[in-house]
Amino acid sequence: MKDHRKAILKKARRVVVKVGSAVVAAPAVEGRDIFSRLAFEIKALKETGREVAIVSSGAIALGVRKLGLKERPIAIPERQAVAAVGQGSLMACYEEAFSRAGSHVAQVLLTHDDLGSRKRFLNARNTLTTLLKFGIVPVINENDTVAVEEIKFGDNDALSALATNLIEADLLIILSDIDGLFDKDPKAFKDAQKLRFVEDVDAAGFELLNGSANALGTGGIKSKCEAARKAAHYGAATIIANGNRPGILTAIFNGEDAGTLFFPKEDRLTSKKHWIAFSARPSGRVFVDDGAKEALLAKGKSLLPSGIKDVDGTFEPGEVVHCVDMAGMEFARGLSNYSSSEIQKIKGMKTAELVQVLGYKVFDEVIHRDNLVVL
Ligand code: GLU
Repeated sequence: MKDHRKAILKKARRVVVKVGSAVVAAPAVEGRDIFSRLAFEIKALKETGREVAIVSSGAIALGVRKLGLKERPIAIPERQAVAAVGQGSLMACYEEAFSRAGSHVAQVLLTHDDLGSRKRFLNARNTLTTLLKFGIVPVINENDTVAVEEIKFGDNDALSALATNLIEADLLIILSDIDGLFDKDPKAFKDAQKLRFVEDVDAAGFELLNGSANALGTGGIKSKCEAARKAAHYGAATIIANGNRPGILTAIFNGEDAGTLFFPKEDRLTSKKHWIAFSARPSGRVFVDDGAKEALLAKGKSLLPSGIKDVDGTFEPGEVVHCVDMAGMEFARGLSNYSSSEIQKIKGMKTAELVQVLGYKVFDEVIHRDNLVVL
């Protein structure tokens, strides 16, 4: 296991460091706040040839402080407003700390919806990889004015997994105010043990774990494990560790057993398939008969019009759809070559009949195997 850990860290050339609200808002430790600690530790990582992007929460936490509020607001529009106040302060903190360490940061505000469009996903990827090429550290946050996913449930945990795929990183480090994942809730049980590894993130029973959020952010351990699962399917490892511990990044890369390491999946999805499974927002459903379901699941086949019984939702070619069986259970997801209205016309038909019905044929398959992910 130790060797495996070593190999994962050695291989990690591109790293996403996710900083939670509880870390951003924590008091300085040994006279240094999180921003200057990160600036110097990330500088050292960059000197080893690694590229680093930050996903940072904390806009609301700093907004609360700036406005002198007693606590984080409950109403979502109020949280959005407070985030708009705090985002500037958050960037000012990163700017100042990183410039003292001799490097630049760049603000990148994203929403899940942006990343659900393949075109915008690729545009964001181009910007981010160019920043990394220039040696600049992107600081990504959710664009809280137009999106509320993270301030409702996530504290940017889900965004950090999307960012890992977006920049094709090998490692996601989630810094929170906990030492890692425990076998039971460490706040309630004194004998709770920290897990050093999670070998198979899909097999682990995270529902048993305490998922309560802390006072400053929205995410609990559950949303962190879910982020680790998404990253694992993309072939990236995740480490959940305590960001309030000075020198944590250095300790991790020095091979110390810090935090909990989630192993990446061996059979990783390609970046495009990962996007289909986790980033895209499906806009409709195709109902697939049992024979075609079997061909997709067991034989690795594409989905042809003949296997489709029905369609719902409205979508254009190139959009992602759910593939459901006749009981409505989703078993796969894929990029459709045809629109919902075209599928309405060609469902149940043989490939040879397509031209007759539509007057043209784009592809034989409604969803090609290369654009299909079995769930
Ligand atoms: N985007 C939010 C922020 O920067 C993160 C989520 C949260 O703290 O709930 O504050």
